[in-house]
Amino acid sequence: MDAVSAPRPATPPATTAAEPAACPGCGAVLAPPTGRSGADGAAAACRRLFEETTRGLREEAAGDARAAATVALADTAYAAQHPDPDDPAAVHAVVDTLVRRLDDDPNPDPAPHRPTVWQMTTADVAADLDVVGLEALVDTWARTVAEDWSRAARS
Ligand SMILES: [Zn+2]
Repeated sequence: MDAVSAPRPATPPATTAAEPAACPGCGAVLAPPTGRSGADGAAAACRRLFEETTRGLREEAAGDARAAATVALADTAYAAQHPDPDDPAAVHAVVDTLVRRLDDDPNPDPAPHRPTVWQMTTADVAADLDVVGLEALVDTWARTVAEDWSRAARS
């Protein structure tokens, strides 16, 4: 039956919501919040997703050293993936801190260019939260961010 097996033409969604766009930092494709559009909106959506994902952990951090360490690692990984466009060189210190937090060898040669692809983003952390604990996810995410930077330095 052709009518069943033939691929249907893609119909644009009947909504006026802003188009999903790629975060200029990590490249995660996220729907911008109302009133924002494009990459700027995606960056705001990414930031919000990160804040929502880590909110519970932040609340625990005041009285829990382990939670505080995970928050610090998450903040550093996020900063390493989202360099300040007005001060792109500042990210090297962030990557250094990230590597130190992970107890890895410091990266002797900071990458001249930031990584273009990331193994994991905030969106992946948020997506896996149902199956994996946040602490383990943040650790894996931070390690992949450090790896991506170190690979960019070698390429
Ligand atoms: Zn992002």
